[in-house]
Amino acid sequence: MDSSTPGPAAHDFKEYAERTFAHIPSGLVVLSNHMRVLTANRAFLQLFDVDAGSVEGLHVLDVIEAPGLEEWLFDASFGAASKHEAVVPMRVLGGPQRQAHLVVTGMRLAEEEEEEEARVLLAVEDLTERERTYRALARSEARLAEAQRIARLGHWEWDVESQSLWWSEELYRIFGQRESDFRPGYGDFMSLVHPQDRERVERTLQASLETGKPYAVDHRITLSDSTIRHVHEQGQCHMDSEGRVVRLTGTVQDITDRKNAEARLAYLAHHDPLTGLPNRTLLQDRVAQSLASARRHHRLVAVLFLDLDRFKRINDTLGHAAGDHLLVEMAKRLSAVVREGDTVARLGGDEFAVVLTDIAESDDVSLVAHKLLEAFSHPVELGGNRFQVTTSIGISLFPHDGGASELLLQNADTAMYAAKEAGRNAYRFYREEMNINLRQHLRLEQALQGAWERQEFVVYYQPQVDLVRGEVVGAEALLRWQPKEGEGATPDRFIPILEETGLIMDVGGWVLRQACFAAQQWRKLLGRALPVSVNLSRRQFTDEGLGMRVTAALAESGLPASCLDLEITEGIVMPNPQQSGRIMAQLREAGVRLSMDDFGTGYSSLAYLKRFPLDRLKIDKAFVLDITSDPNDAAIVRAVIAMAYGLGLETVAEGVENEEQVTFLRHHGCHLAQGYLFSPAVALEDFQTLIMTGKRFLSQNG
Ligand code: C2E
Ligand code: MG
Ligand code: MG
Repeated sequence: MDSSTPGPAAHDFKEYAERTFAHIPSGLVVLSNHMRVLTANRAFLQLFDVDAGSVEGLHVLDVIEAPGLEEWLFDASFGAASKHEAVVPMRVLGGPQRQAHLVVTGMRLAEEEEEEEARVLLAVEDLTERERTYRALARSEARLAEAQRIARLGHWEWDVESQSLWWSEELYRIFGQRESDFRPGYGDFMSLVHPQDRERVERTLQASLETGKPYAVDHRITLSDSTIRHVHEQGQCHMDSEGRVVRLTGTVQDITDRKNAEARLAYLAHHDPLTGLPNRTLLQDRVAQSLASARRHHRLVAVLFLDLDRFKRINDTLGHAAGDHLLVEMAKRLSAVVREGDTVARLGGDEFAVVLTDIAESDDVSLVAHKLLEAFSHPVELGGNRFQVTTSIGISLFPHDGGASELLLQNADTAMYAAKEAGRNAYRFYREEMNINLRQHLRLEQALQGAWERQEFVVYYQPQVDLVRGEVVGAEALLRWQPKEGEGATPDRFIPILEETGLIMDVGGWVLRQACFAAQQWRKLLGRALPVSVNLSRRQFTDEGLGMRVTAALAESGLPASCLDLEITEGIVMPNPQQSGRIMAQLREAGVRLSMDDFGTGYSSLAYLKRFPLDRLKIDKAFVLDITSDPNDAAIVRAVIAMAYGLGLETVAEGVENEEQVTFLRHHGCHLAQGYLFSPAVALEDFQTLIMTGKRFLSQNG
């Protein structure tokens, strides 16, 4: 081809070449040997959104900005064979930047150098979109990998024909394998599946291969360090045109954490977190199971309801940590007593239940109940002190006392109340009439709630008589309930309920104030002191505000502290002797006198009394009742009086009903007495009338 002498054919060719040049989809720019733009094709102009006129004739570096371009042009203008290419950001006439594949090629069209001769060709391929897509793809791949890592989700592909298995990165991590030294195959995968799950997994996979249906299976895997993980696996078959399965793809997700959390939740839903014993829910399941089996085999099932006696007191005085410790210890002891098939459960608070299965006769249950009581008999160490804890047990039997777990539990609960009423540390079998007692108890509880608001309480006073002079030397304030409607109850019945419900704090405080005002009035009437005795309940005694309440009552009424005597029973003092001693010392310090009430009914020995700052001992009426007929009681009362004398305590006999008792008591040196022989407790006005008459109760001195 001779280009120096263009002929018609050459002319045709030139036109052809120009048209081609114009239509080539890549951007092309031709530069002169002075690096001026000779021409730019349509693709280039469109790409950078410029027109031919605005670029032609300009120096290329005034038109195109691209890193490295200047050096490449320099190369190209000297060596025709030079070619540079790179993906670079490009800008034309300061327009928007595009990512381009730029090729700079030198060319020489003729031997002679001519001003307007094409010397350099720039080819530009726009990569902006492609780069963007690539970047987006890379980003989404990274995101997917990240998501899979977070979800602990791996995926795999299995080619059935070649038996080759491909694993994703995360899958290697889940199976605890390194990509470099593990080639996944079907057999290797199966060897990682937990032996107990292997058959199931294989069956599932096989079924999917046969039916072509997707599958899902949860199973365990065993890692090389023998840790066990739970995975959720899902797979899907891919068929060829003839319906043959050629490929399987699927995912494996590590669900160990979820499984563990589920197991923990299931455990918590059925167990008491403190003791680890089954809770009420699980207990009911167990009872239901036991009942089903007992029905088939014609056996008995026993439900034992246990409530620790006076647990609340330990919890309140020693704190919750000590209470918890005690509960855990008791849970252990209970569990040690029963057989393997039996259940010990904690129902909440200090309530436990024991279910005995496969029982032949009720005597067997008594035996276990005995053992349970015995298990409690040795003291528990709590904060350096030893505590004797007892429990009350109620028992119901299947089928006699109920055919369903709810009723059996409820009846055992009722029987437990009966055991408490019988003096605690005891067990009772359920009897139908117990329910009636319990209902009465609940009715009374309700009635008492309103009694305080309706002001149905009154304080009565029972004179205390000096056994030497026959004079009234004091009075005991005794609470009475006079309901405006319905039946009342005796203090022996309603005071424990006031104590249980906490109402005693209000009512007892009120009694204290009433008594102080009354005694202050007597002082004025008589012109001499006539002390009043007020009974304190456990709650009142252990309440931190006691000292304050007492001083406030004295201050309000103007009664000297020495005219107030507080009565406490052994049952209140003994469970925590140290604390009790401190409280008593404080009261004594305030000038108040202290009496040990109902002495002889509790568990303290006389020697123990030395530890407490007491003024008086009140001999319980149970002993006084029989002193003239029962030599034992007579001996006890004699000993008590003598011992009290030795300790410098005054003695008061309660429940004196006849002259013989008075004779006996006086003879043995008892100082004071209360009882129906002199007067029952009477209303304030009646008591005042009595003291104003200056009545003497005893005829003879001696
Ligand atoms: P307590 O402190 O031992 O009171 C003596 C009880 O013996 C009183 O019973 C009294 O009425 C009764 N009694 C008096 N003389 C005789 C007698 O000759 N024979 C017989 N068999 N009994 C006699 P009451 O009033 O029924 O009170 C029972 C218990 O209730 C009291 O026993 C006391 O522990 C408690 N209580 C009464 N009032 C209060 C109170 O205001 N606060 C507290 N915390 N407890 C109280
Ligand atoms: Mg009393
Ligand atoms: Mg008493």
